[in-house]
Amino acid sequence: MKRIAVVGAGLAAVSTCAALRAQGYDGRLTLYSAESGLPYDRPPLSKDVLLGKADRTDVLLRPADWYETQRIGLRQATPVRAIRPGEGALELADGTREFTDRVVLATGGTPRTVPGAQVLRDWADAERLRAQLLPGARVVVIGAGLIGAETAAAARASGCEVTIVDPVPVPLASVVGDDIAGALHARHTAEGISLVTAGVDRVEGSAVVTTDGRRITADTVVAGIGIRPATELAAHAGLLVDNGIVVSPARATSHPHVYAVGDVARQNGHPIRHEHWEAAQRDGEAAAHGILGRPAPSPGAPWFWSDRHGTRLEAAGTMTDASRVVLRGTPGSGAFTAFGLHAGRLVAAAAIDRGRDIKAARRIIDRQVPVDADQLADESLDLRTFLKR
Ligand SMILES: Cc1cc2nc3c(=O)[nH]c(=O)nc-3n(C[C@H](O)[C@H](O)[C@H](O)COP(=O)(O)OP(=O)(O)OC[C@H]3O[C@@H](n4cnc5c(N)ncnc54)[C@H](O)[C@@H]3O)c2cc1C
Repeated sequence: MKRIAVVGAGLAAVSTCAALRAQGYDGRLTLYSAESGLPYDRPPLSKDVLLGKADRTDVLLRPADWYETQRIGLRQATPVRAIRPGEGALELADGTREFTDRVVLATGGTPRTVPGAQVLRDWADAERLRAQLLPGARVVVIGAGLIGAETAAAARASGCEVTIVDPVPVPLASVVGDDIAGALHARHTAEGISLVTAGVDRVEGSAVVTTDGRRITADTVVAGIGIRPATELAAHAGLLVDNGIVVSPARATSHPHVYAVGDVARQNGHPIRHEHWEAAQRDGEAAAHGILGRPAPSPGAPWFWSDRHGTRLEAAGTMTDASRVVLRGTPGSGAFTAFGLHAGRLVAAAAIDRGRDIKAARRIIDRQVPVDADQLADESLDLRTFLKR
């Protein structure tokens, strides 16, 4: 194997390249990016970039010289039009063919939207939106999930009049549990954001029209309603696609020479794709193992964070697996943790401003040690005690 092509230049792609080199792959490594400029990190887009605190150079995944020292051929503004794994080739948008022994698809996702609304996925989106977040501007955010909530918080911190429209009364409850989700949602109101519980029928001129007939006037409308995995290349190549490109633990697709990583991939047997930063990072590492014929490392419990209104949400594990939830700390204080338990084991944890609890919880989940609900709730007990048993 002398040539590896990585399609996409987000975190999963760069992580794959870094891991391949770290594990001793010495052959040709080419990164095809549809975007121009050096690859950058996305989480700051809805945080410091919208707040005007970070510029493109602050959010680069790696400095320019890293690609040189690692001998990675970064092909900017070079979208891949098709992959032909049977022929060991890929086709660029200008029709050129290039040859490769393995392909890694790291194409991410395309934001879902409502016609007339903006989205926030890439640098250009963030730059455009940042220019509109002026004091007094009326901003309507459709969707109160992770990116919608962060965008609303950044708009509010910039002095905008913000309304969030979401049909779900307490968004994110299935991901972090009712208590944490309730506290997060209530915080929007405390910060002066208006919450409208309704669906969006359409964006009409400068108004958002809800399914129950309300019209909300807006200077800017942003949709944060999730992404659709960018599976087109895989589907056209005949790979197995079902809510993402279906992959093995080593991130191999249904074609033995093609791998898929990051937001675009879904592990066979897992109901959801983990569209989070750490999952993308770990996917790249797992794919490098797979390509080099080594067993994939155990991924551990999924984890993510989200920042809004000066607080940090962190969550690990899968809350929908929990049959019981136990709280640690006082919700009224603003900082507390919800543990999800099932059959005497910890299966999930979510916390506001209690990163240490989540750090311990991840290890408890991964090791599957038995836990006692009362002890989890007892703040005088160090959570690491469970790990010493
Ligand atoms: C605004 C925002 C905030 C976020 N905040 C958080 C957070 O706080 N915490 C957290 O855990 N996660 C967060 N995430 C999620 C996290 O950033 C993503 O899970 C991660 O970036 C996924 O990486 P990826 O490489 O799979 O996809 P992407 O980063 O989307 O990269 C895919 C790349 O592939 C390129 N591409 C697509 N098709 C082609 C083609 N045919 N040819 C060449 N290139 C192509 C795209 O242009 C893109 O550059 C956030 C995401 C966004 C958008």
